[in-house]
Amino acid sequence: MLTDYHLHLRSDALEATAQEHFTAANAARYRSAARAGGIEELGVSEHVYRFRQALDVWRHPFWLEQAHDDLDAYCTYVREQTDLRLGLEMDYVAGAEARTERLLQAHGFDYVIGSVHFVGDEAVDMDEYGVWKGGRSTEQVWTRYFQVLGEAARSGLFDVLAHPDLVKVWGSQRPAPAGDLRRFYELAMDGIAESGIAVEVSTAGLRKRARELYPAPAFLEMCLQAGAPVSLSSDAHSPQEVGADYERALELLSRLDVRELCVFDRRERRLEPLGAAAAPGHAVPPGQAVPPGQAASRAAGGSSS
Ligand SMILES: [Zn+2]
Ligand SMILES: [Zn+2]
Repeated sequence: MLTDYHLHLRSDALEATAQEHFTAANAARYRSAARAGGIEELGVSEHVYRFRQALDVWRHPFWLEQAHDDLDAYCTYVREQTDLRLGLEMDYVAGAEARTERLLQAHGFDYVIGSVHFVGDEAVDMDEYGVWKGGRSTEQVWTRYFQVLGEAARSGLFDVLAHPDLVKVWGSQRPAPAGDLRRFYELAMDGIAESGIAVEVSTAGLRKRARELYPAPAFLEMCLQAGAPVSLSSDAHSPQEVGADYERALELLSRLDVRELCVFDRRERRLEPLGAAAAPGHAVPPGQAVPPGQAASRAAGGSSS
């Protein structure tokens, strides 16, 4: 089986409305793109901060600007008008764990993807509210980011840890610290190991300045040694990005001998053998999963994570 669980049915632009994008026809476009790539298992995970209910968790100015839609209407739409699993991309907000838990419990999600886009009030992947301002060294930002990532895992709030080394998103614009990066990854590893959270392998980094998969191979290797299972996603923000560059992800997974992927149903996790659907009942081995030329084409990049 192949999965794509980190999908957004619209771009991150504020003008991309729920009314316009939360339609049966739009979901069907994602399903059809997935089918072309042999991906059977799909789920949608819209950003929590696009929904008014997010403001019960956090009232960051960015969220106040973004939170216009109704989370209940989204859940009803996904359940009643699509055949996608119902997920949510939920930011980890330190200190708001109980409020986060309440929001998640109030909706019957199939899975929740936990993201660290902010450390404290400061954004990792945006210039607006950016953590990079204020004269911090890259070393300091990376240290803080991976500490918070470990806290997010340890919170137990999430099924999947999203784009785990997102802090590298800037590529050469804000280069990674020098030397062996495992000293940073190590900061998150106890939380990952103790929580049993699944780790996302995401092709979105290939579409960003980083031009790399999330996470880096060395990070994934450490997660696997810590016993973490893998969730595979593209973080698509349009049908064209569904399963984008999966051949790259599958090559890495095969190299690290990952043979199973997480599948979620009502927040229960099971593992399924990794491989694309060729015809009913016939799995294609990893590495041959997406025939050349059929993989979704690489987007020009632009939308956030
Ligand atoms: Zn994200
Ligand atoms: Zn996302």
